[in-house]
Amino acid sequence: MTRTDQLTDLRSTPRGKVLISGAGIAGPALAFWLNRHGYAVTVVEKAPTPRSGGYPVDVRGTALEVVRRMGILPRLREAHIDLRRLTFLAGDGSEVASLHPHAITGGVEGRDLEVRRGDLTDALHRAVRDDVEFLFNDSIDTLDQSGDGVDVTFRGGGARTFDMVVGADGTHSRTREMLFGPEERFHRYLGHCFAVFTMRNTFGLSQEALMWNTPGRAAALYAVGDDDEVHAFLNFARQEPPLDVFRNPEAQRPLIAAAFADAGWELPGIIAALRDADDLFFDGVGQIRMPRWSSGRIALVGDAAYAPSFLTGQGTSLALVGAYMLAGSLADRDHAAGLAAYEHHLRAFVTVNQAQVGEGDSALFPTTARALERRNDRLRGLGAVPSAEGRPAHSALALPEFTPRT
Ligand SMILES: Cc1cc2nc3c(=O)[nH]c(=O)nc-3n(C[C@H](O)[C@H](O)[C@H](O)COP(=O)(O)OP(=O)(O)OC[C@H]3O[C@@H](n4cnc5c(N)ncnc54)[C@H](O)[C@@H]3O)c2cc1C
Repeated sequence: MTRTDQLTDLRSTPRGKVLISGAGIAGPALAFWLNRHGYAVTVVEKAPTPRSGGYPVDVRGTALEVVRRMGILPRLREAHIDLRRLTFLAGDGSEVASLHPHAITGGVEGRDLEVRRGDLTDALHRAVRDDVEFLFNDSIDTLDQSGDGVDVTFRGGGARTFDMVVGADGTHSRTREMLFGPEERFHRYLGHCFAVFTMRNTFGLSQEALMWNTPGRAAALYAVGDDDEVHAFLNFARQEPPLDVFRNPEAQRPLIAAAFADAGWELPGIIAALRDADDLFFDGVGQIRMPRWSSGRIALVGDAAYAPSFLTGQGTSLALVGAYMLAGSLADRDHAAGLAAYEHHLRAFVTVNQAQVGEGDSALFPTTARALERRNDRLRGLGAVPSAEGRPAHSALALPEFTPRT
């Protein structure tokens, strides 16, 4: 074989076949980078299409460099929401403080991004859809890695063998459950439940958010543009997670309504809208913490491995950075060395970002009257102009260059 033949062979022969479960944020980002590093990639997603719409998510710090290297930063800049104002309200609806949102989130004006989750998944999917195989409306049924690869059967029928499988299937990852056991072992419940849904914007809000608090309860209205809809968000403290209610959609609306039964301000209207909403999402506020993110030829990425909770606003950024680091770690190593390197180089970044939860918790959802009063005093004392420096945790990892194979 000549040197040219060898090079051609190297380029046309994939390094290996990888199956990714989940086409949210981490899944397509990982598919993009694995493809760049010479892997043949298949993504299986249980939803029928990439999920559009949805609540706003942040891309900050190190994750901005990931999307820049993917070539989708200009598109995301166009989709940037540019929320102008966040107004905190007391129980009777009176104003406590009105601030630039970055003063609370630690974001940096003109640099950090806030986009609709659907705009991000769409940009990621477009960047990779011509180069990798997507199987929508399907999911993994069984995994067996007792041989030289991972034997997979699909719920929709059929069986295939891959060199590696990666679970990018979110906080309630089924891949994680199949590999490491029940979610309870890794889920750290943070003492709150939340609901999100869309409702009519009868409040005249435009590119701004309102946040109403009483001790242990919060309601937010979030207008990403000046259109007819707002994202409504309800949060309430609850010592034990209502596991039976998470599993039973019928029981969710009554539980949420009861938590806000005697609340003032616009809550009666918001609860009425909750009863009619067709896109209700209800869950516990929590983190996923695991001692290891892989076993054999199967690994986890994004929320499935290290969900930091929306209190940190860092879930999307961790998913993007995690995908980049996992693919890069496998660029020139076999699966065992690559997965070890992934954990080794990413762990500290995950830990420091998961630790941000303390700040989000006390700023957004104080649970006692004293804590709420202290929080409100702090808000009144904050300057209207946010700092030009982001939180150090957001940029705590300097992104290495991994040489793409193709
Ligand atoms: C209400 C709310 C507000 C948030 N706000 C912010 C914010 O302001 N900033 C921020 O950065 N983050 C925020 N987040 C978190 C952010 O959405 C996640 O951290 C991020 O989406 C993680 O990406 P992921 O790809 O790991 O998981 P996900 O986005 O959850 O994607 C998982 C994908 O896997 C699919 N899937 C699940 N199970 C299976 C299966 N068995 N088979 C096949 N496919 C499967 C799902 O359909 C989904 O497409 C918020 C989350 C919520 C719920």
